[in-house]
Parts: sequence; C-alpha cells; structure tokens
Amino acid sequence: MARANAAYYATHDPFADFTTAPEISQVFGELIGAWATIVWEQMGRPASLALIEAGPGRGTLMQDARRATARIAPQFHAAARVHFIENSARLRREQAMRVPDAAWHAALDTVPTGPAIVVANEFLDALPIRQFEYDGGAWCERYVEDGAFELLPAERPVRAPRHSEAGSVVEVAEAGCAWVTRLAKRLARHGGAALILDYGPGEFSSGDSLQALRDGRPADPLCEAGSADLTAHVPFMELAETVRAAGARAWGPLPQGIFLTRLGLWQRVGMLARANPLNAEAINEAAHRLAAPSRMGYLFKAFVITPVSAAAPPGFEAV
Ligand code: SAH
Repeated sequence: MARANAAYYATHDPFADFTTAPEISQVFGELIGAWATIVWEQMGRPASLALIEAGPGRGTLMQDARRATARIAPQFHAAARVHFIENSARLRREQAMRVPDAAWHAALDTVPTGPAIVVANEFLDALPIRQFEYDGGAWCERYVEDGAFELLPAERPVRAPRHSEAGSVVEVAEAGCAWVTRLAKRLARHGGAALILDYGPGEFSSGDSLQALRDGRPADPLCEAGSADLTAHVPFMELAETVRAAGARAWGPLPQGIFLTRLGLWQRVGMLARANPLNAEAINEAAHRLAAPSRMGYLFKAFVITPVSAAAPPGFEAV
C-alpha cells in the first residue's frame, strides 16, 4: 500500500480522482488559520514556531490559512514558519506556487525542534494499513501475491471483535499510529498542538475499509498497483490510545461539521455571501458539503493532540 500510493502520488494528479475540503471552500483553510492563531495565543505567543502541514496536496489549505492570518493576526503570521511534509515532487511544485516561502521535508524528523502547530487533512488515510482475516479457526494476515490476497498465519495478536465469523476483517493502522506516536512525543516535549482531520469512525469498530479510486471511480485496490489512490478509514479511538501511551493528550474525535460550526463557519460564510451576492448560493452549498452530517460533516472527524497540561483547543471546549 505504501509503495502503491507513493507511485500514485508521484505520477498522478490526485485531485482528478477526488476532492478534499480545502478545494471545496476557502473557508476551511481560513478557519484553520484562525484555529492556529488561538492555539498560538494559548501557548503564550512564542516568538517563533513551526507551522507544519503533513500531506499538503495542492497547498490550498495553507494558502487560505496564511491569507487569513496575515489579516487577522499579523504577529502570529510573522512568528510562524511554514514546513511542508510531502514526498511527491509533483505536488511540491504545486505547493510552491501557493506557499513559496515554505520549507519542504520528507518526514517530520527533519523539521527543526521547538514549539509547533501541525495540521494534517486527509493525510493519515493514505498511510498503509495491515489487514487480518479470520478463517474460522485462526486469525491470518492478508498479503498480496500475484494481484490477489493470500492468507498467512498472523504474526501478531489481533484485537478481535467478540463475535468473529469466517471472513471477518480487522485493520491495524500501524504506520498511522507510529506517525502519531512521534508527533505526540514531540508535542509533549516541545509544546504545541496538532489538528488531524480525516474520515473514520468515532468509536472502536472493525471491518474492511480499504478503498481505491481510479479516474474518480471506485476500483479494485489490487488491480494495477500505483494507478489508483488507496485509502483506509482512520481509527481515531486507536489513535487516542496511542497518543496517551506516548505521554500526550488526545481531544476528540469530533464530527467535522460540529468542529467547523464552533469555529465560526456560518458567520464567515455569511460574510462572504454578502460580499459576493452573485456567488452566495455556491458559497453556502460548499459550506453545507463540508458540514452537513449526510455529506462530510459526520464521517470526517477533527482530532487534536496537545501536551497533557494544555488548555482545551478551540472547538473542543464543550466536549
Ligand atoms: N491535505 C491535502 C491533500 C490530501 S491527499 C488536501 O486536503 O487537499 C494526501 C497528501 O499526502 C498528498 O499531498 C500526498 O502526496 C501526501 N502523502 C501521502 N503519503 C505520504 C507520505 N508517506 N509522506 C508524505 N506525504 C505523503
């Protein structure tokens, strides 16, 4: 999955296959800029900090966030240095057009240590997962051989649901949990907060969530590796456990619609609509797509990592 996605992102325009929240409405990135500003104030307004985005895609979220902070929070804007974690050369070129003063990294480890605010939208769902299948007697791991799944005895214990039947699938987001562990340790030690937005359940669950999109349509994940975008649901409850085990605090997951509404989505949308009456309908429709429970408002979740002693991050006060 890791190799297939690296090949896919290196050779394809992913936005021909799927659309993400920052590409739907400028308000998404603007609200995240406002969120980061408040977090910076809660941190005691450090004179310099890293504003890190993992998997920035076209760079649209950060471009919108930076435009907003330049206007509403010039001191925060000046204190923050943008660092992008991206391994696709093709997407790095797109990002440089929108955020020319960013620094690029292949992984979190090379971003200079110190206080940091981290954002990751639809990043963790692209990281590889492991899948385990119950064959009726024992748990096996799914491997890929000649374009098909092959079951081999599981080499690690599987957290199995109580009533598993032959064919039941359990996923382990090993790479995502490892990434979150490194991030949580860094934040616990040097201060800051991370905002992770992605799709996945808000409770412990099991089942096969591996999906492939090729040419904008659902496809067989095993067919022509590297030609389709592979994703899996992000297991937020497991991530929360991982964060706590790493010595940091987890907030959420909170449905995206509630999170954005608490940050002022509808106030900002109202302002934009009044300023652009000819586009008011499209501006409102885009916000509904992000926030309505039947669209992206419920399946997508907001999840925050902070040091244990930090105040509630914006949007999470009432949780
Ligand atoms: N956040 C963007 C793009 C989401 S697509 C948006 O919301 O529009 C996933 C992004 O993660 C792409 O930029 C992809 O190149 C990047 N990515 C995927 N796997 C990665 C990895 N292992 N390391 C670094 N970047 C990765």
